[in-house]
Amino acid sequence: MDEVALEKERAEILKRYRSLLTVCRPTIKKEDRKRIRQAFDFAAKAHRDHRRKSGEPYIYHPIAVAKIVVEEIGLGATSVVCSLLHDVVEDTDYTLEDISEYFDEEVSRIIDGLTKISDIFDQTTSIQAENFRKMLLTLSDDVRVILIKLADRLHNMRTLESLPPRKQLKVANETLYLFAPLAHRLGFHAIKSELEDLALKYTEPEVYETIQQKLADTKEERNRFIQSFTKPIRRSLQKDKLDCTILARTKSVSSIWGKMKKKEVPFEEVYDIFAIRIILDTPYFREKADCWRAYSIVTDIYQPNPDRLRDWISTPKANGYESLHTTVMSRQGKWVEVQIRTARMDEVAEKGYAAHWKYKESASGESGIDKWLRRIREILKSAESDALDFIDDFKLNLFSDEIIVFTPKGELRTLPLGSTALDFAYSIHTQVGDNCLGAKVNHKLVPLSYTLKSGDQVEIITSKKQLPKPDWLNYVTTARAKGKIKSALKEQRKRQAEDGKEILERKLKQFKMELSQDTVQDLLKHFKLPAPLDLYYEVAIGKIGQKEIKAYVSEHEGGGILSYIRNPFARPKEARPAEEPKDPIRQQLKKKPDTLLIGDNMENLSYTLSPCCNPIPGDDVFGFVTIQDGIKIHRNNCPNAVQLMSKYAYRVVKAKWMTSKSIAFLSGLRLKGIDEVGLLQNITNTISSEYSVNIRNIHFDTHDGTFEGEVMLYIHDTQHLNNLIRKLKKLKGISKVTRIGKMEAVS
Ligand code: MN
Repeated sequence: MDEVALEKERAEILKRYRSLLTVCRPTIKKEDRKRIRQAFDFAAKAHRDHRRKSGEPYIYHPIAVAKIVVEEIGLGATSVVCSLLHDVVEDTDYTLEDISEYFDEEVSRIIDGLTKISDIFDQTTSIQAENFRKMLLTLSDDVRVILIKLADRLHNMRTLESLPPRKQLKVANETLYLFAPLAHRLGFHAIKSELEDLALKYTEPEVYETIQQKLADTKEERNRFIQSFTKPIRRSLQKDKLDCTILARTKSVSSIWGKMKKKEVPFEEVYDIFAIRIILDTPYFREKADCWRAYSIVTDIYQPNPDRLRDWISTPKANGYESLHTTVMSRQGKWVEVQIRTARMDEVAEKGYAAHWKYKESASGESGIDKWLRRIREILKSAESDALDFIDDFKLNLFSDEIIVFTPKGELRTLPLGSTALDFAYSIHTQVGDNCLGAKVNHKLVPLSYTLKSGDQVEIITSKKQLPKPDWLNYVTTARAKGKIKSALKEQRKRQAEDGKEILERKLKQFKMELSQDTVQDLLKHFKLPAPLDLYYEVAIGKIGQKEIKAYVSEHEGGGILSYIRNPFARPKEARPAEEPKDPIRQQLKKKPDTLLIGDNMENLSYTLSPCCNPIPGDDVFGFVTIQDGIKIHRNNCPNAVQLMSKYAYRVVKAKWMTSKSIAFLSGLRLKGIDEVGLLQNITNTISSEYSVNIRNIHFDTHDGTFEGEVMLYIHDTQHLNNLIRKLKKLKGISKVTRIGKMEAVS
């Protein structure tokens, strides 16, 4: 690089740094500028010779992350400092000691957390879910670590283009599975949508492009509609002296795609592509009254759908969201969602908790941001179960809706849909949960397992004698309750095992035996138990009694343990280390080039095409190492792909098709349309006229003049299949042709 170019780059770095200072100005105190400058100088120097994959100077990245942290997440000076430094220890020669020499303890603690998390994430051989839990648990130190990590991920997603395709997929799936739900849970709506859209762009580029194109194509028409729809509302609100801004918010690409998949409809039939948002400029004390006034005005003009009124003003969502939603019928006969909220509520909805606490008056002297951070920590800490369970529970809690119930004193509690009386008990206090006997719901006695509904008033009945039982795990849905029950059961088992150990010692004494380590090992082998704790426990509950022990002793008479007891000088047998299970596939993978070539000589390689998505040559695919069935090939857009890639990244192998015309693959098509005379004939003719396509089976249903059918056929590659789809779509009477296992973006 020549001097001129370098000079230009230096100027650009400074320009970006200044724009960071500009976004800091409204919220960050002047005294803190110096710390930020120090951090910037330090980071710039540390990353001096370091470039991103795109070729840009590395320091662009930390500056961008710091900007997100202030502008989009709402954190303060310390977090800006840490964002600037977040990759220093990880990626340069500087160490944590260097950081703590130049910056305070708080900063070096946060950097330490960030570095540890990066370590965990970069090991491709570990299970992501477990890592994620560890990551969340480090939060008990400082929740800012995860918020900076979230900003880091957002910027990495925004610049994902420069990574190689395989890495793109891994990062995108991880984002979908871990970071987007996290952002949602913390109420960062805008970040969540952006992460999901960016992920979709890489996991299903075709879908993403198509929907985006359609959004662009229909923009003008949409704007005209919005104009005519909002005009009378605007006029009436003005007449009533309600100051407001009216916006039309288009749904994100990923949520439109979600709707298309869920309802199995083409883009054109997703009716709520956009929502009208009325943002009122109104003082805090008049918020609720004014929102309802606006509601009344809107529904005077347009007829509302009574089933679709949502009042999150009287009872905000758990993540802080407040808004009034209704769906009304436009004059063109289309349903339109209208959201009514104040400017304050709008900021909370877009920016999450940070904005929420900004508005809260603080009586305790604790600053708004501290309160917010504490709340986030509570949300994240409420899970104590096993890592994978935890992720599933976590997702469960995120995607289901919430119910609102009341305590006997009329206090309000938010719980996930499907929560039981027992979940409610644990949400109050661990002790209340552990001792829960039953509950009174709306003054009527119900069992622990009773599923609560919104609006229920719940009173928990407890008894000191009650203890958690294993079957309680079937009665709860919240991660918190599950975790608490599991740890209580573990505790009980441990206590019982202590008693069991004493009993066992006594029993063995009768046979003149001691409870030595060797005896324990021998007993474990005899009773086929994994650990001493299990042995003691089974003795305690009487599953291993006098009879069983006697049988053991007589079996071992003359050998094994008794001979050792008779001859205390014999060398104790060493416990043999558990043999590592042989894994031929893993071995095979080690020897093979890192890309699995598929399509030729299928029978020579131990892989199969997964029936869940029936991949054919031309599809983007990956291999997944299963425990029993060798390597399975899935399509990148297989419904199971996200889970497989993020939970078991280390079992995913690259796969590529070797084009070969000699093999046919099984694939399926779903057809819909109007039942015309001779249609079935036309379909089969079209299929068999296509060069060497064979139908394996075909199945049609007609109903009230419409038909639906499925055809399974042998085909060579995607090009071949797409040709056929195009031809079938042209047939008279056919309205829709989709590939089974994948929803087509184009109808
Ligand atoms: Mn980074």
